[in-house]
Amino acid sequence: KITVIGSINMDIVTKSSIIPKVGETVMGDSFFTIPGGKGANQAVAAARLGADVTLIGCVGEDAFGKELTEHLGKQGIMIDNVKPVTHSSTGIASITLSDGDNSIIVVPGANYEVTPEVVKEHEHIIEESDVVLLQLEIPLESVIEAVNLAKKHHKTVILNPAPIQPLPKELLQQVDYLTPNEHEQQLLLSANDLIDEELEQIKTKCIVTQGSKGVTIYKNEEKLISGFKVEAIDTTGAGDSFNGALAVSLSNGASLEDACQFANAVGALSVTKLGAQSGMPTIQEVEAFLSA
Ligand code: ADP
Repeated sequence: KITVIGSINMDIVTKSSIIPKVGETVMGDSFFTIPGGKGANQAVAAARLGADVTLIGCVGEDAFGKELTEHLGKQGIMIDNVKPVTHSSTGIASITLSDGDNSIIVVPGANYEVTPEVVKEHEHIIEESDVVLLQLEIPLESVIEAVNLAKKHHKTVILNPAPIQPLPKELLQQVDYLTPNEHEQQLLLSANDLIDEELEQIKTKCIVTQGSKGVTIYKNEEKLISGFKVEAIDTTGAGDSFNGALAVSLSNGASLEDACQFANAVGALSVTKLGAQSGMPTIQEVEAFLSA
């Protein structure tokens, strides 16, 4: 059983050949909405792989909130703990695409209503989990509370430190696994008041994702677990797919190396299709890929 505590967003995308200047109105080419948010994405990745997944998060009492909650339910995720809140809008990313350029505004909205109190109310769910999976798109105090509760009940905790921000060393010391990409790992290990010994200890928890190369783990010694060769179409959501898959495999009792191998396969398959959530493979697709 996997519990994800994290963000739920709607990506609102406009495509336009001209980027409007301040005060200007232009005609766009197309418009669409895509479900996102790292919490929701990772929950979808795990659910596609057949895991029992509970998502704890908040949406606004608005159309996007309703649509996203229904959508997540249809993916097989337990959504009883996705709470509609009255005083914030559903989290959104407003994305403008123009000839390969983009500009993005993120409004976290209801994701910031996932307070430490909300996390505390769900202690019984954390207690029933095998793995608790976290990211950094809800308030940091809430991530800290979630880790405290999970460790109180001796649960495995994976923290995907994205979007990266300075983190207290107590948090890094408590979690079982950290899943930064290369860029995030540099910031994670440099921005701290860590003495060498602490740095080494935290490094052993790192599973550093490196795109097509695969991942590096540092458990006993530095070791690259090679990625799979695929034709990449869209790499959005590769990290989220990897994290969801890692949680599934670890909750099934796999060794760290085997879990990384499985998650590499899931990450690789996810980049062969368009979209973050829509590109995430099912367990049948992963099994077929691995036995091919
Ligand atoms: P992020 O999207 O967070 O930057 P990465 O790009 O490191 O994360 O991708 C996460 C994981 O997804 C990688 O460790 C790898 O397993 C898989 N992956 C990503 N891109 C590719 C690719 N082009 N080919 C094969 N696997 C990939």
